Amino acid sequence: MLETTAIDVAQGDSILLVSPQGKTLLVDAGGLPYWMHSDFDIGEDVVSPYLWSRGIHRLDAVAVTHAHSDHMGGMAAVLANFHPRELWLGAESRSPELQKLLEDANHLDVVVIHRKAGDSIELGGSTVRILAPTFNLATNTLRKNDDSLVMKISFGQTSALLEGDAERGRKK
Ligand SMILES: [Zn+2]
Repeated sequence: MLETTAIDVAQGDSILLVSPQGKTLLVDAGGLPYWMHSDFDIGEDVVSPYLWSRGIHRLDAVAVTHAHSDHMGGMAAVLANFHPRELWLGAESRSPELQKLLEDANHLDVVVIHRKAGDSIELGGSTVRILAPTFNLATNTLRKNDDSLVMKISFGQTSALLEGDAERGRKK
């Protein structure tokens, strides 16, 4: 079985994948907008308790689809609590929040991997194919949502498409 569970983080997303062989990948970790200056931390107060309730104490990998707070705001707490072996990112981003997360990853010995279209990763009996970003998107894109890491995870005849916030193409 390939499990795909959407954790209720309200705005944004956080999706737990558990592969047929039990490998875990958490895609995004929800988060509140930074301007709210709230002490409530979706990563600490929602995502982590859910993972603990499942008996998960270590993640194999986490992915941040793009550098918007409703996708990555909760990830700092997840890194600290679940010491993933790998952090997957899509396009390069200079956002200060992402740079801070990369520092955290560095301190925790989490291996940071930039994924791009064409990559294919074996994840414990399932396959993750990276559909975006394309290699030259990082320098050309105007809209952060279209930086999103887009992944298709497959097991047997079944697959799930995880798009971050990538938007429909516009007519030129
Ligand atoms: Zn977004």
